[in-house]
Amino acid sequence: MPPLPADVHSRAGSELAAELASSTSQGLSDQEAERRLGVWGPNALGNGGGSPAWRRFLGQFHDPLLYTLLTVGGIKLLLHEPGEALVIWSVTLINAVIGYVQESRAETAIAALARAVRTEVEVIRAGRRHRLASEQLVPGDLVRLEAGNKVPADMRLLQARNLQLDESSLTGESLPAAKDSAAVAKSTPLAERIGMAYAGSLVTSGLGLGLVVATGAATEVGQISSSLQQQVSLSTPLTRKFRRFSHTLLQLVLVLAGLTFLVGLLRGRDGVEMFDGAVALAVGAIPEELPAIVTITLAIGVNRMARRNAIIRKLPAVEALGSTTVICSDKTGTLTQNRMTVQEIYAGGALVPIEALWPGNGSDGDLLASNRALEETLLAGLLCSDARPSQQEGLVGDPTETALLQAAATAGLDRQQALERHPRRDAIPFESKQQYMATLHGSDRILVKGSVEVVLARCSRQLNPSGQAEPLEGERITAAVATMAGRGQRVLAFAIGQADGDPNQLKPSQIERGLDFLGLQGMLDPPRPEAIRAVAACQGAGIRVKMVTGDHLETARSIALQLGLGDGVGSLGAIDGRSLARLSPAELVDCVRHNDVFARVAPAQKLALVRALQADGAVVAMTGDGVNDAPALKQADIGIAMGKGGTEVAREAADMLLTDDNFATIEAAVEEGRAVYLNLHKALAFVLPVNGGASMTILLGAVLGLELPVTALQVLWLNMVCSLSLSIPLAFEPRPPGLMRQGPRPPAQPLLSWGLVRKVVLVSTFYWCFIFGVFLWARSHGHSLPLARTMAIQALVLAQIAYLVSISQVSKLGWRHWHHNPILLAGIGTAVVLQLGFSQLGWMNRFFATAPLEPQQWLICGVALLVMVPVAAMAERLDPTTGIPRD
Ligand code: ADP
Ligand code: MG
Repeated sequence: MPPLPADVHSRAGSELAAELASSTSQGLSDQEAERRLGVWGPNALGNGGGSPAWRRFLGQFHDPLLYTLLTVGGIKLLLHEPGEALVIWSVTLINAVIGYVQESRAETAIAALARAVRTEVEVIRAGRRHRLASEQLVPGDLVRLEAGNKVPADMRLLQARNLQLDESSLTGESLPAAKDSAAVAKSTPLAERIGMAYAGSLVTSGLGLGLVVATGAATEVGQISSSLQQQVSLSTPLTRKFRRFSHTLLQLVLVLAGLTFLVGLLRGRDGVEMFDGAVALAVGAIPEELPAIVTITLAIGVNRMARRNAIIRKLPAVEALGSTTVICSDKTGTLTQNRMTVQEIYAGGALVPIEALWPGNGSDGDLLASNRALEETLLAGLLCSDARPSQQEGLVGDPTETALLQAAATAGLDRQQALERHPRRDAIPFESKQQYMATLHGSDRILVKGSVEVVLARCSRQLNPSGQAEPLEGERITAAVATMAGRGQRVLAFAIGQADGDPNQLKPSQIERGLDFLGLQGMLDPPRPEAIRAVAACQGAGIRVKMVTGDHLETARSIALQLGLGDGVGSLGAIDGRSLARLSPAELVDCVRHNDVFARVAPAQKLALVRALQADGAVVAMTGDGVNDAPALKQADIGIAMGKGGTEVAREAADMLLTDDNFATIEAAVEEGRAVYLNLHKALAFVLPVNGGASMTILLGAVLGLELPVTALQVLWLNMVCSLSLSIPLAFEPRPPGLMRQGPRPPAQPLLSWGLVRKVVLVSTFYWCFIFGVFLWARSHGHSLPLARTMAIQALVLAQIAYLVSISQVSKLGWRHWHHNPILLAGIGTAVVLQLGFSQLGWMNRFFATAPLEPQQWLICGVALLVMVPVAAMAERLDPTTGIPRD
């Protein structure tokens, strides 16, 4: 690989361009760029980040429970029971392997999903602008930066206009740094090199042009870490809660086990036997498989969401989604189709429907000639715009702007000709904070387009049909806006101004006042049909949908009514940003509760809205696409950014991305989030009684001084069979119908609800009855201790299978739906095979001190299964594990 230039921050851009055989105006040629891609490789970092595999594997053992087990194994060895020591250690090993495999699979899956969303950059090659995937960048490329971009590679800035970068990922400094193209001394620290833009920083405002000086692993971040990707963390509030839960349980159980041991000794029992009992209690009572099940369930949820176009960036969002109570959504593009068409144009005092301009109507030429203001309005829409025709894709650009281009084309205005007559010199790009865009053409023509309020406030005169300026008739214009917005149109205003000063530069100060109003264009953007359905589904699920938009109040209200927002029958609260700004925090809380449409909202107000909703107890999902939406996205319980449209800055701040920018996808993700929660609930309901039953058995046996119906080794085996084959299938349960016909789970509701506790106690008690009952029966019929124990265990496993089926969806939908979760059948099958081996295989008998069962003994165990069926049905009534509402 040829060397890249060094000390780039201290050298002039032109000098570097020469060294890189590039040009500060034309960039590289396409062939040269391709050649360099072969030399330097794609501009991406490997995914080899994080700690090495062996470290992560050893990390699996870092758990008090496993320490306990390892120690117990050691004691067994000292007591000359190497066989048991071996089993205990293998169980810990198997646990660690399962944990390791599942966690790495989940991590790679999540990381791969995050990478699936492509970052595009604007590159100048051979003097022409292209949009490319950021991986395609090579040293020597010219890249344009604008607010919202993520800097894709290390760059020496050639031009910068009000450019500010958030470099916190590199420097830790959270305030944006101002940039320009100046060189600095060689010794300047990274954070102060104002002429540089480093990969991974975010453009918070302004524009810039940079020369790529390093890509991929050669960039500054690439040298720090080998992975640009955020480290995936599998820790969520829920997994942490589970860990704490099992640790508290462990302490409790250790105390109990110690007591059992002591009580036994005091009653004069054999020390080794009592130690065995204490160990059995310790391993039996702890749900060691729970953390793994939580991780697997969450990971499966992430995958299912991805299949429905929602990419989870931060795992805790999966949990939060299930309890969402309010969704605040953008209007344009998310709730609507973002396929805009101009409907009406107001200019020169007349409201003209677009049909009047259709070619072949005969009147188009006359119309434009008789109304110069109309022609100027259309021309402004054509020139003050970044949309352009492309050979492959028709019109490309912001849908608002392509609609304007289309309208001008309908009236027979040609873009090429217009640009030749009025070449563009400079521009102030659209930002939703400002709500306008302005361009400078020829020597002195300034064109402004934007929201009516913003544009009109800067106008003092208006153009009449003959093209003369006359005094502004504000009220007439406002009346026209009301008419158009009432029809659901998004209304843009156009104005023209005279430039003075530098003929090549446009500054916001030049368009603050004194403009001439040209006209209005109103466009329609129909609601997405699937969004209408999704809004209805959310309302059925007790989730309020609120529209938060930068658009006009009347436009927003009209679209909201079409979407069925509010109470769905035409009553709907709407308020605009100006009124919001006047409210006290307490009034705001009341206001967000009663309104469904928030119009003309400035990005900073979104943050206040989220806070007010949260203060009202809501779990808030909020969408955002702009640079200034990032704080609101971070504050929301689930920040949602767009994978297609929207800025990189918003995506970095978000918890979830929509690959199709569609509201219906949010609804789908909420549904999957609820399914995840339900499956966790099922896993708890299944696993806890197993531990409960086992610990009750041992505790009572020891305290009452009876023979123990199970040995420590057998409890370990039971735990393994249970965790491996019976509980994991619950993570794969499909989402049941009717999940979206229930209200959201109250955010404060504990996972271990009262109903669940009662259910666990009930089932535990029956498990205990089965174990003891079968054991005592066998003993009283003169069977040996190993045989009695084997029968007790088989009875327990059969009862577990019956209970598992009652929890799973198969019991609700019927067996012909078994294929919805084939893993359930596979799990039951595995358990049966393992249990057969456990009692029928000679070497297993020797190892676990079990004995083979005769058919009639199997039948006795089968009674447990039969009895369990009505018991499970009773338990199900105490705490339903279903998405189908009880009504
Ligand atoms: P939303 O996406 O919620 O509809 P935006 O923040 O995109 O709102 O737009 C707010 C307002 O800014 C629009 O109502 C419109 O008046 C104006 N606007 C939108 N896009 C453009 C643009 N490309 N150029 C100029 N003004 C625009
Ligand atoms: Mg928008």
